[in-house]
Amino acid sequence: MSDKVTRPRGTQDFLPEKAELLFFINESATKFFQNYGYRPIVTPTFEKEELFKRSIGASTDIVQKEMYEFEDKAGRKMALRPEGTAPVVRAFIENNLQALPKPVKLYYIGQMFRYERPQAGRYREFWQMGAEAIGSSDPALDAEVIELCYGYLASLGIKDLVLKINSMGCRDCRGNYIEELKKFLSGKVSEFCNTCSQRIDINPLRVFDCKQESCQEALNDSPKILDYVCDKDKAHFERVRTFLDAVEINYTLDPHLVRGFDYYTKTTFEVLLPTLGAQNALSGGGRYDYLISDYGGPQEPAIGFAFGTERIMLALESQNISVFTRPDLDTFVVWLEEEQKTQAYKTTSYLRDKHLNVLMGLDGKSMKAQLKMADKLQARTALIIGEDEVKAKLLTLKDLETGEQEKLSLEQTVDKLREKS
Ligand code: AMP
Repeated sequence: MSDKVTRPRGTQDFLPEKAELLFFINESATKFFQNYGYRPIVTPTFEKEELFKRSIGASTDIVQKEMYEFEDKAGRKMALRPEGTAPVVRAFIENNLQALPKPVKLYYIGQMFRYERPQAGRYREFWQMGAEAIGSSDPALDAEVIELCYGYLASLGIKDLVLKINSMGCRDCRGNYIEELKKFLSGKVSEFCNTCSQRIDINPLRVFDCKQESCQEALNDSPKILDYVCDKDKAHFERVRTFLDAVEINYTLDPHLVRGFDYYTKTTFEVLLPTLGAQNALSGGGRYDYLISDYGGPQEPAIGFAFGTERIMLALESQNISVFTRPDLDTFVVWLEEEQKTQAYKTTSYLRDKHLNVLMGLDGKSMKAQLKMADKLQARTALIIGEDEVKAKLLTLKDLETGEQEKLSLEQTVDKLREKS
């Protein structure tokens, strides 16, 4: 006897109820993003592996431990995308999108893949929606992107969201900070886990990403990046804050918010729902002013973010918020004899054409069984087509809540069903 094949660890089946919510979020976020001038972009789910190594950073957790890498049949090294920014940047350069009016505002929706240890809110395949605004270094754009990210989550009715912001400075001022951080970390090596100790020389900023409590504690009195940021970047950050204050968006300054990718510069931010526990980040992003030029593209400053759709779903569930209600079934068409089946089929099709939600009985079940089915499916009404109805060119509409029945023409049925919906 062979074992049943089950889904891979860290993946999920979205059964209809959950899939409906997923698609609702994708749709409502699309509308929200369109308000801010974003247009969609779709890139492949797999890319050449080097794309991510070069952009996210070879010493990050994502590239070192979590990337799904594979060789295709011709021996080319590929990777399932672990995030959406690098592919968008690649597509921007490859398709010369810099010719468009700037900032070029793009959004994407799709699955990402990371070989992480699965737990609630952390999967190996997960959905992200992200926005990238390329071609402007205006601090008003930073504020706008943060407002979009936070605003969409707030629009769903999620309460107690925490917006954290920080500035990581440009490459020049960050160099001084990294030297100070290295000194600090080297003086406390024994307090850090093995991975962190190894990171001190290679990429000390990544120590902030460590999920171990002891490492986080050891970082408590570490030097703060904002103290090392140059005057120009400080002024930029001040402007971002002024714009956020102007629209009364509450935020917390978090000097440790450096985010898990190497490409971030200046403004970084995250939206958290602290009550969600370990996986409480709903979204995160920041500026990446050098990524496009590092890739051989034009010098285009940019900023973006992504939210995790499953995390939003968990947040909604934890606060008992229902944002999606499935449209009711307007009617269930019941037919009695084989001779009325074609009429039932035609009527069903006609009503659907009038944008009504309709199902019809199948498999020659009895009238009783069909009515039972209509009840089970919570149809508002049943539309009965028997010999008498066909002869009289009328339909019997039964209200399944009140039990009332009336004989109506097809047009009257349409009006009545619309009235009830
Ligand atoms: P990141 O791309 O790491 O900045 O993550 C952006 C958002 O994606 C996070 O705030 C989470 O909401 C979500 N996310 C990241 N990793 C995972 C994962 N393994 N499973 C589910 N959601 C994730």
